[in-house]
Amino acid sequence: MKFIWIGVDDTDSRTGGCTTFVAGAIIERLVANGFDIIGFPRLVRLNPNVPWKTRGNGAISIQVGKGTGNKTKIGEIGNKDIFCYFNMSSGEIDGKRVKEIVEQIIMEHSRLKDENTNPGFVILDEQPDLEMYYKTVREIVTIDEIELLLESLNAIYKGYKNRRGLIGATASVSWRSEDDKTYEIISYREKKKWGTKRYVDDASTKKMDETCTSTFDNYDYVNKHNRLVPSSPCPILYGIRGDNAEELVTAKDMIKSEKVDSCMLFETNQGTDDHLQRKKIGDIQPYLSVITGGKIVKNPYTIEGGHVIFTIKDSTGTIDCAAYEPTKQFRNKIRELCTGDLVEVYGGIREKPLTINIEKIRIKHLEKQFIKIENPICPNCGKHMKSKGTRQGFKCVKCGTKSKKPIIKEKKREINIGFYEVPVCARRHLSKPLKRTMEP
Ligand code: ATP
Repeated sequence: MKFIWIGVDDTDSRTGGCTTFVAGAIIERLVANGFDIIGFPRLVRLNPNVPWKTRGNGAISIQVGKGTGNKTKIGEIGNKDIFCYFNMSSGEIDGKRVKEIVEQIIMEHSRLKDENTNPGFVILDEQPDLEMYYKTVREIVTIDEIELLLESLNAIYKGYKNRRGLIGATASVSWRSEDDKTYEIISYREKKKWGTKRYVDDASTKKMDETCTSTFDNYDYVNKHNRLVPSSPCPILYGIRGDNAEELVTAKDMIKSEKVDSCMLFETNQGTDDHLQRKKIGDIQPYLSVITGGKIVKNPYTIEGGHVIFTIKDSTGTIDCAAYEPTKQFRNKIRELCTGDLVEVYGGIREKPLTINIEKIRIKHLEKQFIKIENPICPNCGKHMKSKGTRQGFKCVKCGTKSKKPIIKEKKREINIGFYEVPVCARRHLSKPLKRTMEP
């Protein structure tokens, strides 16, 4: 083999571990064994609606070969700088040895005892078609179809337990970064700190956020939430996302925190909206993520738990859209919507009841709304008429003249045409922040 793609997924559990940390361990051992890393390691997020994901449905992939030309620093592990190359020579590399290393690391780091951890790795000498990535980021894929594909590509692969990790591992290798990509630099904690409260300084995070303008989703100023810091007991201390790999290194150096044990820079599909597909309402299925347009036919209302729901309709059907409680003040914008407004909703589909979990919304038309300011004035007597009861119209008490309509005025809408997105604290990994570009 001249160069090799490695894909790995599903090594962690809710109680610990992290697939990106496993990527670092694989890279460290490959480099120690004389292999070169080609291009950035890749963190690829997949369908955010799969019910069996641990957290963010992330998988990793790495390309290995004989590097030539300039090298770029991609991380630090065990006080050693780690580099990648962007060019390869035609020298052969030992696929069998790569497999041994990947297998060793998976055995050392996977949470195999957890019933929901089903690791898988793939070793390929070519990337599968891009189609497989899109299918896995947008739909549900079966292990059977992945194994068929891997057989047809003569892949070396291994799935543990129910082998589900093979799906993410293969999709991660299938991803191409040419169309759109972002980066994430991840800092890891010292092992003795895993599972304890993290210390990452908010003030330095805000300073970094203001200074490093190509980064995004760093700090939620309204909800006072430091988005760099995960809440799970995983080895990650913080991760900074952005459009420019170089600036992420500067950004990392600005963060004051507990000791950083190691770090790694990943190329990713985060913040690209790759999970979304345009659908008519009638074609919407559970577990997809969609962009769909419609007219509001039921005003927003709040249900138990503080979730705000409204209904939209197009020529093929109707569907509920939800701004759930974690989307905080975004719900106040949603509450401003009214029947007759035209919107385009972006979000993942929840199965029961079939509902769009709104990630962002584009308001395309605001229907004129009117409010009653006073009862009508009798044209004969010049006095205000009296209401006859709800929807019964009005009547002049003096001469009996009737009127159906009160005096009204146009209501000022507290919302505008354009995009609104959930706050940073509620943002999904794949959602493209409006900061990146307005049009997905
Ligand atoms: P983390 O983000 O912390 O790495 P996770 O949220 O990625 O954890 P996993 O433990 O990797 O969760 O579990 C997701 C599982 O779902 C993996 O086994 C992956 O192969 C599988 N999977 C991912 N996308 C799809 C899909 N579209 N269809 C079916 N299975 C999928």
